[in-house]
Amino acid sequence: MFYTSTRDKSVRVTSAEAITKGISPDGGLFVPMEIPKITPDFIESLVPLSYIERAKAVLKLYLTDFSDDEIAECVEGAYREGKFSSEKVAPLYKLSETANVLELWRGPTCAFKDMALQLLPYLLTVSTGKTLKDTQVVILVATSGDTGKAALEGFCDVPNTKILVFYPVDGVSPMQKLQMTTQEGANVSVCAIEGNFDDAQSGVKKIFTDKDVEKKFKENGFAFSSANSINWGRLVPQIVYYVSAYCDMIENGSLKNGEEINVVVPTGNFGNILAAYYAKRMGIPVKTLICASNANNVLTDFLTTGVYDKNREFYCTSSPSMDILISSNLERLLFHLCGEDDTQIKEWMSQLAENGKYSVNDDVFAEIKALFAAGCCDDNGTKDTIKRVFQEKNYLCDTHTAVAVKVYDEYAAETGDKTPTVIASTANPYKFSASVLSAITDTVNADNEFDTVDELLEKSGAPVPSQLAALKGKTPRFTGVSEKENMKQVVFDMLGI
Ligand SMILES: *Cc1c(COP(=O)(O)O)cnc(C)c1O
Repeated sequence: MFYTSTRDKSVRVTSAEAITKGISPDGGLFVPMEIPKITPDFIESLVPLSYIERAKAVLKLYLTDFSDDEIAECVEGAYREGKFSSEKVAPLYKLSETANVLELWRGPTCAFKDMALQLLPYLLTVSTGKTLKDTQVVILVATSGDTGKAALEGFCDVPNTKILVFYPVDGVSPMQKLQMTTQEGANVSVCAIEGNFDDAQSGVKKIFTDKDVEKKFKENGFAFSSANSINWGRLVPQIVYYVSAYCDMIENGSLKNGEEINVVVPTGNFGNILAAYYAKRMGIPVKTLICASNANNVLTDFLTTGVYDKNREFYCTSSPSMDILISSNLERLLFHLCGEDDTQIKEWMSQLAENGKYSVNDDVFAEIKALFAAGCCDDNGTKDTIKRVFQEKNYLCDTHTAVAVKVYDEYAAETGDKTPTVIASTANPYKFSASVLSAITDTVNADNEFDTVDELLEKSGAPVPSQLAALKGKTPRFTGVSEKENMKQVVFDMLGI
């Protein structure tokens, strides 16, 4: 199995190279040249297995340059007992007759990013062992809140790596900020930037392809990689949990092998939902992929009109991890849908860079309409949904998950579709305590983050994850704020070059 670039089809690399590099030198993203197929028999064989064993079986199909032992070591390290607060790793919670919430936030940082970022450092260590010698890997991360902490936690004190995280100074929740700025470890660094997530992401992408930086890195024995979902090593672990959720639904009697499911994903950078698309292409019978956005609804418009237009107001919402107007991974989907036409992708992406806008042709749009449904939900809708789900189902969901629940409810009401559905739940509610608390009660007494946590516990009874409770009273290590034009210098400073 080899990987190519969405912007240059002559590129042909192994999975180890794709994971080591993060992004192709032409600015394109690595995609598998062929998507492996699984059969109903294969799925059946996974049903009695643990998450770890299912992960090995699925990853093996994509990481063909890894040995079985290497895959086993990576997966067992990432998902070993005690790392996730559920022995299922990503358990399903039955919310209604048709809706099943897939809890992807049981990991060390309480967001779904752990599903991939616990595994990525292992994959990267094996990959660099195959492709680079005597080189330190520098992981650069742009985060809208959750990736940053999950990456810091995953890479903390991993030998031969350094990690630097950029986050938008006003674009993350207080808990997210505290999680990042108090991170321990000798190889980590965190810096706020004056700008939003898109600025952080563009800044990091620019550094990756900067010739000057490349030269300086070579001279000093450093090489870049990315822990953002532009890295294939971030996406491939996410395919696993859709396969695993389908197996769980067979196992618990929600459906028979071969029957269809819908998948609903609260979406930002389009990584999570793209993983569901790959699962479908592999052979998991997914009827509709439902893309849920917050008030930053550029994807809702794109998936329903075929026009991508980021020229619009940017909102800071109560679901900050989805406050994104440039969804990087869409490029991968478009590559697969347009007959792998790299010239076409380059053209759309340069229109996006120059005018902030492009429209896909009729054929691609027809495919999009066959695959996807899309909807959006503003902060009021989010709040109402948290309240309603809590009152009616006694289930406390975070703001991002609430966006997905609301969009699904609207979809189900409009279409009458009764297909069993998996709703991706992407964060623990205590990461966004203030928003969640004000949704379930009209009178909030707390006036600081940890009083809010206590009050939310008192009013909801939902357990507080110990790793969040432990942040109380911790002093931030990283307090720097940089202008977005200055990110390159921050990188040099961190590395002392
Ligand atoms: C990152 C994130 C998302 C968005 O996921 P994408 O893969 O970027 O679409 C949604 N919810 C939460 C809580 C997140 O951390």
